[in-house]
Amino acid sequence: MLILSTSSEDILLCSRLLENGNTVAIPTETVYGLAANALDAGAVKRIFLAKGRPADNPLIIHISDVSMFPDYCYPTKPAYLLAEYFWPGPLTLILPKKPVVPDIVTAGLSSVAVRMPSHPVANKIISVCGFPLAAPSANISGKPSPTRFEHVINDLSKNEFVAAAVDGGNCECGVESTVVSLIGEHPCLLRPGAVTVEMLRTAVPDLTVADAVLQKLPQNEKALSPGLKHKHYAPDAETVCLTGSAESALKYIKNRAKGKKTAVICFDGEENVFSDYTVIPYGTPERPETLAENVFAALRKADGIKDCKLIFVRCAPPEGKGLAVYNRLLRASDFRVVNTEEEV
Ligand code: AMP
Ligand code: MG
Repeated sequence: MLILSTSSEDILLCSRLLENGNTVAIPTETVYGLAANALDAGAVKRIFLAKGRPADNPLIIHISDVSMFPDYCYPTKPAYLLAEYFWPGPLTLILPKKPVVPDIVTAGLSSVAVRMPSHPVANKIISVCGFPLAAPSANISGKPSPTRFEHVINDLSKNEFVAAAVDGGNCECGVESTVVSLIGEHPCLLRPGAVTVEMLRTAVPDLTVADAVLQKLPQNEKALSPGLKHKHYAPDAETVCLTGSAESALKYIKNRAKGKKTAVICFDGEENVFSDYTVIPYGTPERPETLAENVFAALRKADGIKDCKLIFVRCAPPEGKGLAVYNRLLRASDFRVVNTEEEV
């Protein structure tokens, strides 16, 4: 895998590689993406092969200008309104697709997910290419998304389906884009992200929130967004999310850790409380955007501890920017959330 910088020459080289049907890992403001020409079915196939991504999980296509929007889908009035409010930025819109988008991109669905990133490097690469990029997170499917360049290197540097990776430093948001479907009667939040429910409702007050954002889908239920049913963000060690005070969390952990190597992903300032275990502070609940920025790096760090059997994660309320973090932690822990005030 070729390592590229964000210099103009390297961006040009990156665009050439993409033009020739290769996949390249690129930085965005959400997480690193594994990009390919969205209009080239063969190139998109390489993304699925590289990640081991299930073929029924559709990809988001990334554009660099609103003028590209109607080339790939049929934007509605609310779609243009949301684009005006939040693009470029971490918001993905789902709309009826145009035939030019290959079926492999949308996993055979009649709708397509479109986003315009605000990251200057991502934006530049797309505009130099002149075609949209399909780009899911640049990790092996099921694992935490990459938010630092080293995560991309760890996951993909020896991958035969990845030609290059662009080093853009750390990703600002740290969680994937907010996904809103505009297919039904009302706009519907399918995946929370840095653009919050409250922010979205300033543009579309009738926004609804899909049950799957906070609940496990019953087996066999058809997911509005196929990605929601797949195992996600999961470390190898058993992972449990904890709400409640640090003191009650410590009691709960003590009763379970017994002799097992244990990591605690805690809030900043709680390091001393959990000092009997490997502590990984990841931000403060008062500023949930700090938790979002660090949550995947923290999960990866815990997962990298040799022989680690248990990971406990201190969890902030599912409100505002905290909703996206909560949603990812639910999936990382297979929906195991314990209120330690109630259970010791
Ligand atoms: P990722 O590329 O890993 O950030 O995941 C993209 C997310 O968008 C997944 O949860 C997909 O299931 C969802 N998605 C992409 N296209 C569609 C679509 N046409 N309809 C519903 N959800 C979609
Ligand atoms: Mg992903």
